[in-house]
Amino acid sequence: MHNAPESESFTLAPIGYVESDYPDKFGIPRQPGLAPAADANLILVPPYNDPLTVRGLDDFSHLWVTFIFHQSPERWTPLVRPPRLGGNRKVGVFASRSTHRPNRLGLSLVKLAGIDTRQGVRLKLEGCDLVSGTPIVDIKPYLPWAEARPDASAGFAPEAPRQLQVSFSQQALETLAARADSATLHALIIQVLGQDPRPAYKREEESERVYGVRLRDVDVKFCALQNDEATTLEVVAIDEA
Ligand code: SAM
Repeated sequence: MHNAPESESFTLAPIGYVESDYPDKFGIPRQPGLAPAADANLILVPPYNDPLTVRGLDDFSHLWVTFIFHQSPERWTPLVRPPRLGGNRKVGVFASRSTHRPNRLGLSLVKLAGIDTRQGVRLKLEGCDLVSGTPIVDIKPYLPWAEARPDASAGFAPEAPRQLQVSFSQQALETLAARADSATLHALIIQVLGQDPRPAYKREEESERVYGVRLRDVDVKFCALQNDEATTLEVVAIDEA
C-alpha cells in the first residue's frame, strides 16, 4: 500500500501564453467552441518555441490545451455554484468546470487553424474560451477515436446552452460596417452575446441595465429586451477603445 505523498509538490512553468479576442473574463463563453469566431494565438516561449516541438502537430485539427486560471484566486471551496444551475445550487468542485479549483488548472479542446514558425512558434486557434494573457502549461493533439464520447452522460450540463437572439441598433451596425473585421466581429458578437453573459442572479432585478463586453478592441454595449415569448439581447452601441 502507498502512503499519500502529501508533502510532494510540483512546479509548473508556462510553455507559452494566449493572445485572444477576449481582453476580460466577463463575456467569455463557458466552454470552447461556443463562439467559433473567437480567434487566438498561442505563442510558445523559449525554450519551447523551437519549431521541432510542434513537428507533426499541423496534421491534427484539434488540440487539448492545459492552462492556468491565472485570473482566479488561489482559494477554493469543496462546493461551487455552477452558473448553469442558475447560481443557486451547489455541486462538488470536482463535479464542475469551475475556475476556482485546487491547482487552478483548466482544460480546453480547441480547433487548430494553423501554425506559424517563421519567428518562434505561434499556433492559430479558433473558438477558445481563454482570456488574453492566459498561461499555457501543455498542448496535446486530440484523438477523436479515443476521446469523442457522444453517448456519455453529462450530469447537470446535458446539452449545449441555448443561444439567445441578438439584434443590433442602427448605430452599432454603422460602426461595424466601417471596420475591416466587420464580418468576423459581427459573428463573434452574436455568438458571445447569444450565450447571455449577464450574471444569472442579476437578470431579474436589473433588466433595464446596459452591460458592456470587451471583444478585440471594442466595448460592446448591450441590454436585454423582454417580450412575451423570450428574452433577446440588443447591441445598443459598439465603442472603439
Ligand atoms: N474549458 C475550460 C475548462 O473546462 O477547464 C474552461 C472552463 S471555465 C468555466 C471558462 C471560463 O473561464 C470563461 O467563461 C472565462 O470567464 C474564464 N477564464 C478564461 N480564462 C481565464 C483565466 N486565465 N483565469 C481565470 N478565468 C478564466
